[in-house]
Amino acid sequence: MLTRLKRMILSLCRYSGALELVAGSSWRRSRLLILGYHGISQADEHEWNGRLYMPPDQFRARLLLLRQGDYTVLSLDDAVRRLYENRLPPRAVAITFDDGYVDFYRKAYPILQEFAFPATVYLTTYYAELSRPVFDVMCSYLLWKGRGQIVDGAGVTDTDAVLDLRSEASRLAAARAVRRAAKQNRLDALQKDAIAAEIANRVGVDYPALLDARLLQLMRPEEVRALSPELIDVQLHTHRHRTPRERSEFSAEIVDNRGRLATLTASERVRGHFCYPSGDYDMMFLPWLRELGVVSATTVDPGLASTRTDPLLLPRLMDSCSNSPVVFEAWASGVANWLARHRHPAIEV
Ligand SMILES: [Zn+2]
Repeated sequence: MLTRLKRMILSLCRYSGALELVAGSSWRRSRLLILGYHGISQADEHEWNGRLYMPPDQFRARLLLLRQGDYTVLSLDDAVRRLYENRLPPRAVAITFDDGYVDFYRKAYPILQEFAFPATVYLTTYYAELSRPVFDVMCSYLLWKGRGQIVDGAGVTDTDAVLDLRSEASRLAAARAVRRAAKQNRLDALQKDAIAAEIANRVGVDYPALLDARLLQLMRPEEVRALSPELIDVQLHTHRHRTPRERSEFSAEIVDNRGRLATLTASERVRGHFCYPSGDYDMMFLPWLRELGVVSATTVDPGLASTRTDPLLLPRLMDSCSNSPVVFEAWASGVANWLARHRHPAIEV
């Protein structure tokens, strides 16, 4: 996200006191930093994909930096309201998690409780009800687990070509071929899970053990219900983690998601906050979202939000393992806002 030169500039800012100056400025005071996370590792997930997963200790260190830097962590609902009412507290930050993986419940939630920091979980309800691993990410993880090998691709890819797992680029190509085959064959969730089990078998991974550990699975309804509503707000992320360009299909994703959340959490809370799955947004969605009563929507475009930001295009820093503490502090202070690219490509696993 940031070049080496920019990282050097940030280090200079850090040690010269400039970060602290910007963090305490009236410019920063009128801005909100929304942080985005996907998962906190239960095992080695961060070694597979450091953009999606972070080890628990690193996440705790982030929260400690926020506390030590006098940042005010608000719930997203409160933060968005106060942003547009022009009454944010100093150094305002909101924390969000995408998808609602079970590792949120097991790893992130206890750490958030320790700091008493609120967070929003954007939950994609389909996989929460299914209780199986999320297919795309599990395939990518399995192909990484089998790294270095070349294995038979018959029946699991669209061309039946071998799965070449020797480099990151070839694993990405293999993951795409597996996804294309599943799509072309219109596989349902359980058929897709059988494909994941078959890939695990071919790369020599104990799939039942991964299922037991619930790696890359979402929270179950009872886990969602067990989250403290004072601390954790569960919000919209579409039912099936997709953003169709056809209006009625798009609306159905939000309506289904909202309906399922209402039964999952048995709460009267209004579901008006949304996160674009995989950061994939289109200007055509904006009027549709407004009509559906959505009041905020977050992207994966890095940046800080101001009153001039469209509330349905809120920037968000997707924090990852590759961000050093200095880079993280530069984002928290606001300095990095001037140095980053502001449109992030859609996320692919
Ligand atoms: Zn997502």
